[in-house]
Amino acid sequence: GKRLGRGKANYFSEALGRAAHERMRILSSLRAAFSAEQLSLVFQPQIELASGRVIGAEALLRWEIEPGRWVPPDQFIPLAEQSGLIVPLGEWVLRTACRGLYRLTELGYAGFRMAINVSHAQFREPGFVSMLERVLADSRVEAARIELELTESVAMDHIDEINTKLADIRRLGVRIAIDDFGTGYSSLSVLRQLHVDRLKIDRSFVGELDGPDTKAGIAPLIIALGHQCNLTLIAEGVETEVQRQCLLAMGCQEAQGFLFARPMPIERLEDWMAAQPG
Ligand code: C2E
Ligand code: CA
Ligand code: CA
Ligand code: CA
Repeated sequence: GKRLGRGKANYFSEALGRAAHERMRILSSLRAAFSAEQLSLVFQPQIELASGRVIGAEALLRWEIEPGRWVPPDQFIPLAEQSGLIVPLGEWVLRTACRGLYRLTELGYAGFRMAINVSHAQFREPGFVSMLERVLADSRVEAARIELELTESVAMDHIDEINTKLADIRRLGVRIAIDDFGTGYSSLSVLRQLHVDRLKIDRSFVGELDGPDTKAGIAPLIIALGHQCNLTLIAEGVETEVQRQCLLAMGCQEAQGFLFARPMPIERLEDWMAAQPG
């Protein structure tokens, strides 16, 4: 896959390509990890480009198979999706991210927003909206501070059903972003049909902004599209100052990436926030 080859531990990817019983073995160790609480969330700050202000964070899942040894989510989330484990796991992610948000709110970061990834298989569950409602009530966070990141693949389902669900979610006050926008096969029709708040520009397009011909890339097209549709834009994977300046000049409002901060545990995020100016 395109995310590999960045020097990340590639612990399971070979095994994933092997036999079904191998997948079963990994799945059972994932289940065990889930119940043994070897899973955790890290949080990557999101920045308003014009002001440099922190506006929120994205919650990202981590699996520590042994001390210091991490399996990247790309290598186990597909398995969790295929097996249905994503449903309880996704609920756990939502609860844990809301708890983090609550802590930050208590510290006085009142406007802080938490972005949470929701996989297609999880979103498709009939009980998804009532689960979301329950978690929000239990965790005493404001719905308007939550943003769900969905990929374009949600649009492969029956569009009326999806829109009904999206409307229910937005009625709660929760916002919706389309993640990895432009990497799917349906971007334009998705945008025409789905009611969402934000577009998230995938980091593969952000990476192009350092190249010799910035204007020929995909990112400017997505940004123009977002403006046309009155959607806020956020770029992920911003690693360089050139990328930051390009995005700002093109009218992309928000960004996250290693240039600003790496994903970090909640305690470190609290320290990091305290060290921010203003
Ligand atoms: P994503 O939603 O597109 O998340 C962005 C990925 O880019 C994250 O990888 C993040 O750590 C990484 N990243 C952030 N800034 C930079 C940068 O400047 N440069 C580079 N090279 N990478 C950067 P991560 O944490 O490995 O997550 C991979 C994918 O796993 C996510 O992609 C998302 O699709 C999925 N995922 C992660 N957590 C969850 C979760 O709780 N639930 C679900 N359903 N999926 C999740
Ligand atoms: Ca995401
Ligand atoms: Ca992405
Ligand atoms: Ca993704």
